[in-house]
Amino acid sequence: MPATTAHKATHNQTRRANEQLVLRTIFEDGPLSRADVARATALTRTTVSDVVEDLIAEGLVAEAGTGPSTGGKAPILLRVPSDARQLIGIDVDQERISGVVIDLKGNVQVRASRVLEGRDADEARDALDEISQALVDAAQRPLVGIGVGAPGLIDTATGTVRWAVGLDWRDEPTGPHLTGLTGLPVIVVNDSQAAAMAEWAFGRHENFEAMVVVKVGEGIGAGIVLGGRLYPGDDSGAGEIGHTRVSDDDVPCRCGSSGCLETTSSLRAVLSRAREAAQTRVGWALAGRTVSQEALLEAFRDGDPVAREIVLESALPLGRVIGAMIGTLGARDFVLVGPMAAYGEPWLSVVRGEARRSALPLLAERATIHIGRTGDDVVELGAAAMLMTSRLGLALAA
Ligand SMILES: [Zn+2]
Repeated sequence: MPATTAHKATHNQTRRANEQLVLRTIFEDGPLSRADVARATALTRTTVSDVVEDLIAEGLVAEAGTGPSTGGKAPILLRVPSDARQLIGIDVDQERISGVVIDLKGNVQVRASRVLEGRDADEARDALDEISQALVDAAQRPLVGIGVGAPGLIDTATGTVRWAVGLDWRDEPTGPHLTGLTGLPVIVVNDSQAAAMAEWAFGRHENFEAMVVVKVGEGIGAGIVLGGRLYPGDDSGAGEIGHTRVSDDDVPCRCGSSGCLETTSSLRAVLSRAREAAQTRVGWALAGRTVSQEALLEAFRDGDPVAREIVLESALPLGRVIGAMIGTLGARDFVLVGPMAAYGEPWLSVVRGEARRSALPLLAERATIHIGRTGDDVVELGAAAMLMTSRLGLALAA
């Protein structure tokens, strides 16, 4: 590279770093005057004024009245309007693809979703295209881009879903494909890892060194946050606990192995047990019916003994795997999210009890295992939060 080009590249990098620093300072602590920003960032006032001028031109920063005068002219204050940009977050689940448009404070402004009929790779692709396009069309403000949370092994650097067992996707170029479709920047992240970032940003958890978020739905995966940063692991596979072998029953798993945690403790496994019981247990309230999640949940809440037996039994292997993670990571804060969390305290207390029995008592008694606080949009919010950090250098926070 010729020296002048190298110099220019460095200059552009510095300028971009300064822009992100000034934007972040105003976003987190605004309204602030230009002098406040210069003090907080240790940049010169000239640099701050130049950068602010650009940010105002881009619509990311706005002037917001004047602050108290310290003798001279009252300073003009700056802020980042929460509607300066919008972001799209999408949850690619095995049963449904759902997405939201949010503003820079994480307020949900538009929702869209489509149910998937079966494990059909093409159908899931089409649904993702359709939802992405619908959300792009529905956005009212300039979009930062699209954050996609998908199950399985993800190569975030290239936006590729390397293997999503439940969707039957292998080496799926989701990121480049959606960029081609919408013209927007796209990041693709693991759904459980996205959920972990959302719980970290919005869940108001105690500030432990480590937090583990376990998503229990059609599949099972965990996201690990260490020191405030997502720990992806080598090959981005950290937290892929769903295919840990926990049972000798040899129930085949969709990954090709058998006895995996997903065959004992996922929503899919629980519904399949319940459907079996509906065929074999004469006199059961749900006998002879096609058992849906809603029907099983209702029976469970009504104290139906068969529903309780099926659901609570599924919690045992999950508890054991969490117990192993307590020992491996020494983490104290475990958060359960996803559709199985709807079974609430009775299910949670079996998971908790079994996790504590499966770890060194001194570690186990200090571990907290509870249900997440961010609700149904957890993956969408987390994927959008990760996009916001990578594109604007800003952190979504409650
Ligand atoms: Zn498996």
